[in-house]
Amino acid sequence: MKTAIVTGGAKGIGRAIALKFASSGVNMVVNYLSTDPKELVAEIEALGVGALAVKADISDFAQAEELINQAKEKFGTVDYLINNAGITRDGLILKMKEADFDAVVDTNLKGAFNTIRHASPVMLKQKSGAIVNISSVVGITGNGGQANYSAAKAGLIGLTKSIAKELGSRGITANCVAPGFIETDMTDSLPEAVKKQILESVSLRRYGKPEEVADLVYFVANCAYMTGQVVTIDGGMA
Ligand code: NAP
Repeated sequence: MKTAIVTGGAKGIGRAIALKFASSGVNMVVNYLSTDPKELVAEIEALGVGALAVKADISDFAQAEELINQAKEKFGTVDYLINNAGITRDGLILKMKEADFDAVVDTNLKGAFNTIRHASPVMLKQKSGAIVNISSVVGITGNGGQANYSAAKAGLIGLTKSIAKELGSRGITANCVAPGFIETDMTDSLPEAVKKQILESVSLRRYGKPEEVADLVYFVANCAYMTGQVVTIDGGMA
């Protein structure tokens, strides 16, 4: 049985990813920081696969290492690494606080480096593995009020393309999935006027669902001959 790690897996897109992999017969390691994963763990186990919840702040190098170690100890392999954890601290560049820039880069970009740094030796030894990093369409297009977030998500694309070149010869793939506007807590807090404006730029005239992103992540993770790519899922937004 294969094993997947999803960071920030207890809610939103991460939760949908955890359930998608689990329902496909994959043992799940659910990383979380503040959301209680108890119910999700029970739901995953009911699907007939193993589940392990690991509390870790992935922006911290040592905690990311502990996450990978616990996964390997419990299930023996790390076949899929899904870097999903992310935060926003929106603001215009003229007013953006240094702490808000650092926090977003530390979680969204360095967090992925931290887990990849510790998972890649395991995958190299196995001579197999798939890494999927959740970027965003704004990492491709940019977005006013999100200089920190867009920079981190663009950085994630560079990181992904580079490791794809480094790890490909050992049978390891690395790709990005770049969602548009998906209905989760992250987007729920936006003012109604902003949501309406975003909707007008979406060809399909609706927001995406976490499950729709999860289906794509699972597909990308299992595309054995695709690496270094960015696949958008945005209803025609970008
Ligand atoms: P969400 O509901 O706010 O979930 C964010 C997740 O990240 C939570 O599970 C949270 O864990 C976790 N997290 C945050 N900081 C962490 C840290 N330092 N260590 C470990 N986990 C951490 O947001 P979402 O919409 O599902 O977002 C998931 C990913 O998709 C993010 O990378 C986001 O940037 C990306 N994305 C979202 C959209 C969208 O429209 N929603 C669009 C494009 C890309 P806890 O709850 O346990 O603290």
